[in-house]
Amino acid sequence: MSVVALVLAAGRGERLGSPLPKAFVPVAGLPLLLHTLAALARVREIDCVVPVVAAADRARFEALAPALARIPKLAPAVTGGAERQDSMQAGLASLGGDVTLVAVHDAARPFVRARDVARVIAAAREVGAALLAVPVIDTIKRVRGGRVVETPERSECWAAQTPQAFRIDVLREALAKAISAGVRATDDVQLVERLGLPVAVVEGHPGNIKITRPEDFAPAQARLAEIAESEETAI
Ligand code: C5P
Repeated sequence: MSVVALVLAAGRGERLGSPLPKAFVPVAGLPLLLHTLAALARVREIDCVVPVVAAADRARFEALAPALARIPKLAPAVTGGAERQDSMQAGLASLGGDVTLVAVHDAARPFVRARDVARVIAAAREVGAALLAVPVIDTIKRVRGGRVVETPERSECWAAQTPQAFRIDVLREALAKAISAGVRATDDVQLVERLGLPVAVVEGHPGNIKITRPEDFAPAQARLAEIAESEETAI
């Protein structure tokens, strides 16, 4: 009966324009990925944290062994795949029969709060699948070919974050059906939505940003340095 966090770090982070893969870019003295692994390891409801890294980054990851040894609950890294969904699939395939719940998280979101992770896990336990999300501030337009197609009702629009949490049987079934239908998704709950199964929305925190562009790093630097100083499990 265990709860596992899969931390997806196998992307290249092309929008960052850095020679290093995004998860390995140093922030406040440590690679971004380590801050995120530590954030999840601090969550009481999580028993084990599994990093998913690209084959090309294995050596880079292993070289972090001394810092990784200071993070509790860490499992050996799993090798990811070409797209996010492939990396999630590889992480899921690595899990043993004792796992009941899985929380899938972007390595690029180091600021997630432990209490929000706990809430999304509790919602997934009850409903089957759940995600953290925040209401959008801007009006959203659906655009194709430079033309507005539709303006969805703003009060119904939420920005999806991670973790996205699942009862493991629900995620396994949703992934298997997506694979046989040739469906590729940019987040994990989409796979459950398309089966018509319920997905709970847990209001998260706007600060749980996905570090994506070069300008995201400067503010992240200060915040992560502060978190590292204030936490008992500082790495
Ligand atoms: O590309 P995107 O910003 O959606 O990536 C979200 C997360 O998924 C990142 O943490 C990235 O490292 C991860 N990812 C992955 N394997 C890929 C592509 C993305 O683990 N092939």
